[in-house]
Parts: sequence; C-alpha cells; structure tokens
Amino acid sequence: MVMGDLVREVDVAVVGGGPGGYSAAFRCADLGLEAVVVDAGKRLGGACLYEGCIPSKALLHVAEVIALAQSAKEFGVDFGDPRVSLDPLRKWIAERVVGKLSKGVAFVAKKKGVDIVGGRAVFEDSRSLRVEGDEPQKIRFKHAVIATGSLPSPLPGVTARSERVMDSTAALALADVPERLLVIGGGYIGLELGQVYAALGSQVTLVEMLDGLLPGVDRDLLQPLARRSEDLFEKIHLSTEVTDLRDTGSAIEATLGSETRTFDRVLVAVGRKAQSAGLGLETTRVRSDPRGIIAVDDRCRTDDPHIYAVGDVTGEPMLAHRAMRQGKVAAEVIAGRPAAFDNVVVPAVVFTDPEVAWCGLTEEEAQRAGRAVKIAKFQWAASGRAATLGRSDGLTKLVVDPASGRVLGVGIVGPGAGELIAEGALAVEAALTAEDVALTIHTHPTLSETLMEAAESFLIEAGHR
Ligand code: FAD
Ligand code: NAD
Repeated sequence: MVMGDLVREVDVAVVGGGPGGYSAAFRCADLGLEAVVVDAGKRLGGACLYEGCIPSKALLHVAEVIALAQSAKEFGVDFGDPRVSLDPLRKWIAERVVGKLSKGVAFVAKKKGVDIVGGRAVFEDSRSLRVEGDEPQKIRFKHAVIATGSLPSPLPGVTARSERVMDSTAALALADVPERLLVIGGGYIGLELGQVYAALGSQVTLVEMLDGLLPGVDRDLLQPLARRSEDLFEKIHLSTEVTDLRDTGSAIEATLGSETRTFDRVLVAVGRKAQSAGLGLETTRVRSDPRGIIAVDDRCRTDDPHIYAVGDVTGEPMLAHRAMRQGKVAAEVIAGRPAAFDNVVVPAVVFTDPEVAWCGLTEEEAQRAGRAVKIAKFQWAASGRAATLGRSDGLTKLVVDPASGRVLGVGIVGPGAGELIAEGALAVEAALTAEDVALTIHTHPTLSETLMEAAESFLIEAGHR
C-alpha cells in the first residue's frame, strides 16, 4: 500500500501505547468515543511492560527469593548456594510475566473496540497525522493524545559505542551475568538493577555524581537502603563522575574520578528524557521545552486545543501510575467531563531491598518552605511482624500538620513498603488526620500497624492521648 491511500477518521488518536496511552484509549472507549492507538511496536504496554516496571520487578522478585533463601540459614534452614540458569529465567519473564500481561491488555483493547495501528506517528497539522512504517496511513482526528513516553538519557560527554555499555533495556535483556558490573547513577534504576545483578552474582560497583543515593528522597528512609546496598555492592562511589569509558575488546576501562578500573559491563542509569523529537509538533500548536517536555495544564491540555499529552513526555515524575491517571483525565476532559489531574500525591516506590516508598510532603520540603510540621516516627525494631520476618531495620514516618493533625506526608522504608504506602496515599489524599489513622484497627501482627503506631505517637506527643 502507498502511504496516504488509507485515511481513517476517528474521535481520538492516541500516539503511544504505554500506560498513559492505553489508559486514555480505554477510558475514551468507555465514554463512547472511537479511539485508535498508534504505537511504534504495534502493542500496548510501552516501556513499563516490555522494558521497565514489569521485567525489573520480576527480576527483583528473583533477587528477593535468593536473599530469603540465604537468610534462612540464620534459623537453621539451608537451601545451599543458588544456581541461576538464565535461559529459564528469561523464558519465565518473557512468557509467564510479560507475555501473559501483554495478551491481557491486548484482549481488553479488543473487547473495548480500541484498534492498535503499528508504526511511528508524525503530526501533519492539528487535526491529522500520518503513520510511517508497516501500516502506513493517515488518521484524521477530532482530538489526539500524545503519550510517547521517554528514553534513557546517555552519559553526558562519554560516547563509548560498545555492547558492554548497557542502558536499562539492555540490562533487562540479561545477556549474561558479568563478573564485574559498573553501574553509573544511584537513582531508581541503578539501585534496583544493581541489586538484581548483585543477587545474580555480579560484583557491582556503583558511581553516583551527587553526595548521596536517591537524591531528593528523605535521608531517614534512605539510610537502611544505603546500608544494605553497601553490603550487597563491592563499592559505592559518591560525588564521583565517570569521565571516560573505553572498550578494550575484552572489557571496559572506566575512569571514575582519578582512578581507572576495569569492568565486564557497564549500566548507564542517569535518568530518562521525554520522547517528543520527530513527532512533527512544529505543524501543530503544541510546544515543548528544550528538554523535549511537553507542557500541559491540569487537564492534560497542550497549547493546541485539539491535542493533549500524558505520561513521561510531560515530565516528572516519570512513573507509570501517574501516566495512567493522566490518561484517564485526558479522556474524560475530551469527553466533556469535569475531570482534572488534581491529585494531592503521586506516591513513589523504589523496589529495592529494603523498599523505600513515600508520598506527599517530606520533612525537608517542609523545612525549605518554612512550614511548621510535626514528625512522627515508628522504628520497626518495635514491630512484632518485622521481628517475625527477621527485618527490624524499617521505619515508618509521618509528616503531620501540628494544628489540624492532618497527615501531609508519609515515608516508609522496609520490606513491603511499596504496598504499605497505599494507606499513606489514601490518608493524605483523603485529608485524614493522625487520629483517623491511629483509631483505625489495623490487623495484628502486620507491618501496617507501624502506620497506626506512628500516628499514635504523634497524638501522645501532642498531648491528645
Ligand atoms: P511509555 O511507557 O514510554 O510508552 C510510550 C510508547 O509510545 C512506547 O510504546 C513507544 O514505542 C511509543 N512511541 C513513542 N513515539 C512514538 C511515535 N512517534 N509513534 C508511535 N509510537 C510511539 N514506573 C513505575 O511507576 N514503577 C516502576 O516500578 C517502574 N520501573 C521502571 C523500570 C525501568 C527499568 C524503567 C526504564 C522505567 C520504570 N518505570 C517505572 C517508569 C515507567 O516505565 C514509565 O513512567 C511509564 O512507562 C511511562 O508511560 P508512558 O505511557 O508515558 O510511556
Ligand atoms: P533517576 O533520576 O532516578 O536517577 C539518576 C541518578 O543518576 C541520579 O541519582 C543522578 O544524580 C545520577 N547521575 C546523573 N548523571 C550522572 C553522571 N554523569 N554520573 C553519575 N551519576 C549521575 O534516573 P534512573 O534511575 O535512570 O530512572 C529514570 C526514571 O525512570 C526514574 O526517575 C523514574 O521516574 C523511572 N523509574 C521508576 C522506577 C520505580 O518507580 N520503581 C524504577 C525505575 C525507573
């Protein structure tokens, strides 16, 4: 077929089939709008399903199983040393985890009547786009939603073209378990995938440019993770930059600050950048900043009245659950509903061992803003459930408004923090007070009690109990 032969008219054209894009398309369909998704890979799921959240969490589960088996020696159960076979591991992730979810989301699309067109979308004006690739066609739309996501940022000033230098996508492909792995970047990906490779047997060296891991995250929460990472990793270099990477043919020579070290592979995880180049935005009224981030308002509207944008392409925080919420908001606004992205919190989780999770106001943000807050902490050393798990290194922390008792922020570090933060997010979003949390019966013995205990300690200190 010649490009342009087929012209399709739809209510909503969604560009990008990741969590932001498919959520928008599904909600459009629910609201009676005809939606089509154009995705470069002709599939729904995006970075999250194929090269992000899901495969990384599957590997972190494997790391957790290995760590649990090792820790069982402490109470007299010895499974021996783990023997990891990469082929079955890759197959399990590809088929039982990613493949299963991929089929599931494709089934939902079919059921809702959302068509998926394979190819790269390029806008031709504010009402039409062309699809380049295997299924060339023109699509005329009443509205479009840009959900093109993000891509890994390269390491500035260092261009080592070598298959030994991996981004997160290559690292998740698990070509092998390198003996010596250099991880550049101590953020989400560096820590999560660094821990995965350490569990599988690599000696991991991590380099972070700033003076602490996970910049911006509450230091009380970081401490247990930093200690655990120091045990798991060969070495962590803070305030250090990698200025050169050189493939010697059999390894990579890396210049870290003033020393040169040799590694078998390198993982570059220094952030992600919005993917808006080549979209033909100049033919529309959509504007992006020099980093490619598309500006949107709280209804996910761009400067072009026909075009919306959601997800990573709209900037930080680049998280799948934010993209999904934005996708639903965009669809509802297009359908004429009074929706807005007016959420108080976007909770965040680093799925390491221990997990770190937070939502809402942090102690440091309150200090910077000169806002008076009360901090209520509960150390997991006093939690019965934590003791039964052999994990007393956790902490639950509440940031509370001293006058009203409202919970403004929650931070949790410890195994399962990623699940526990849901209660914190609900408390902040629903404007609950510490008293509401303290008086709610939490099942015993569970880690969720640590939220109730932290809330109670606020009430006692404030003289309410
Ligand atoms: P994406 O998921 O990036 O999807 C964009 C889609 O658009 C892609 O399919 C792409 O091919 C397509 N596309 C791009 N340009 C075009 C075009 N011109 N035409 C057609 N199609 C196009 N977030 C979490 O919340 N929790 C996690 O645990 C988590 N773990 C992560 C782990 C890793 C290793 C990585 C890399 C990311 C992780 N993230 C996580 C972030 C999460 O993956 C993203 O926030 C999320 O995928 C963003 O969704 P999106 O819909 O904006 O875009
Ligand atoms: P990040 O922003 O989380 O961390 C990047 C780290 O690299 C920072 O600590 C930064 O200071 C450091 N850095 C930057 N330049 C450097 C340099 N030249 N040398 C050494 N260190 C340098 O980015 P990421 O880890 O690449 O992850 C990208 C994004 O993907 C995250 O911000 C997040 O939005 C998303 N993500 C989320 C999850 C999750 O929700 N659990 C997991 C993985 C990724």
